[in-house]
Amino acid sequence: LGEPGVPEALVSAIGAARRSDLVAAPIVGGVAREGKSEAVRNPATGAVVGQVIEADAATVTDAVAAARKAQGDWSLAGGAFRAERLERAADLLEEHDALFLGLAIDEAGKTLVDAIAEVREAVDFLRYYAAQARADFTYPVALPGPTGERNELMLEGKGVFVCISPWNFPLAIFLGQVSAALAAGNAVLAKPAEQTPLIAHAAVELLLEAGIPGDILHYLPGRGETVGAALTSNNDIIGVAFTGSTEVARMINRSLAGRDGPIATLIAETGGANAMIVDSTALPEQVARDAVASAFQSAGQRCSALRLLCVQEDVADTMIEMVAGAMAELNVGDPSILATDVGPIIDDEAQANIAAYVAEARAAGRVIAEAGRTNLPADGHFVPPALIRLDHVTDLKREIFGPVLHVATWKGGELDQLIDAINASGYGLTLGVHTRIDGVAAHIAARAAVGNVYVNRNQIGAIVGSQPFGGRGLSGTGPKAGGPHYLHRFAEEKSISTDITAAGG
Ligand code: NAD
Repeated sequence: LGEPGVPEALVSAIGAARRSDLVAAPIVGGVAREGKSEAVRNPATGAVVGQVIEADAATVTDAVAAARKAQGDWSLAGGAFRAERLERAADLLEEHDALFLGLAIDEAGKTLVDAIAEVREAVDFLRYYAAQARADFTYPVALPGPTGERNELMLEGKGVFVCISPWNFPLAIFLGQVSAALAAGNAVLAKPAEQTPLIAHAAVELLLEAGIPGDILHYLPGRGETVGAALTSNNDIIGVAFTGSTEVARMINRSLAGRDGPIATLIAETGGANAMIVDSTALPEQVARDAVASAFQSAGQRCSALRLLCVQEDVADTMIEMVAGAMAELNVGDPSILATDVGPIIDDEAQANIAAYVAEARAAGRVIAEAGRTNLPADGHFVPPALIRLDHVTDLKREIFGPVLHVATWKGGELDQLIDAINASGYGLTLGVHTRIDGVAAHIAARAAVGNVYVNRNQIGAIVGSQPFGGRGLSGTGPKAGGPHYLHRFAEEKSISTDITAAGG
């Protein structure tokens, strides 16, 4: 899955940047808080990577109060002022990339190739939202109106925004959400995932160093059911940017609705049960390469990952054989080793759940292939990639967040039924299409109820500014991250109408 040619110099820079004294303590008003610490472990080896201190209730209260007080001035400072600081943060991130690459590998179990993409995406988000803040949040936009009247539209920060992120993009999504909220003029309470507080802590330190005021950005690590719940039930917050599971998005929705505070905005980016439609004209080598990369890169722990390969019946045997062959080439193991394609599962609970799911399928005689040349460290959490046969497309009921690919067949002449069945899952994140007939690709793309369609290519990845990313239905609310409308959901609009005739003053 990996890209060849990673320079040795980068590998040694990552080694040199590794630190043994990392503590992800809450940061409120620019000052670290003390508390009882807990170890953060490397999912591939079980080794301790650093310590985390959970934010307690008083810390959350202090952060909300400080953020509330400071937010108005931050919004008034204007888009260009905020953009300058975010751009400085992007420069700092590029300068210190070795530290972040090392943390993505050690804390989140990313391969180096994945870690490089992660840091790149984080830099891109910072620059993209900074540019939008400069363009859209600096001057009022003039609107048409009758003679003698000036009409303008302004964008302002909404207030105090909570950003809750997942562990699987512990830097890119964390910084993407936080930088968007900041760029639009909000104060931010940032809660990283339990599993990856260290890289998020380093990112917050970097933003503060870049000039984001301490009262505007607060770092609040801890568990979802404690810190997350305290934040989303607080009456003084105006919105939540959440990326994670569909189940937790529902919980947050309920929590926001139960408050006495203002009606809050929820921007949710959630799970997927992503399918790929392969017709009989598709190129088998290309299908195998793209399906295996999409399903197993990052050990399948990507919201966009392919979960369900839907192959036209008459080419199914060839396609399945090719996919199983490509799976057999995968190296599964410690992601700090360059040859590794598939790294660990994030923690023991997730590993146990995925392994139990595969075991059940195996007992039912549905596992067609289990892959990988394995060289597994003793204390890590691993599940070898598996290919599971389903009788019907509709048999995949939920997101399996790991290296598990399902395959089902469909009959020629029943393409529309297939699209309907895929849409009926209710998830709507990504859909892959492999066909050599342009009209078929266009037909599928037009009818698919998803946010992102990938034609004749790897079904993961989203380049900021080029491939805005996000789903619908059970997969999220939109608008799309890294797209032209994302920042506007973090903003209030204000229209100002002025009489400019002499009589009007
Ligand atoms: P998760 O839902 O378990 O956790 C996400 C975050 O929510 C964590 O920070 C967690 O602490 C917090 N949380 C948990 N309970 C909470 C509560 N009651 N109140 C407030 N916050 C709470 O998800 P995860 O395991 O970290 O990430 C994997 C999931 O994220 C997958 O479902 C994946 O598809 C999804 N994801 C979606 C996208 C996307 O763009 N659509 C991107 C990445 C990941």
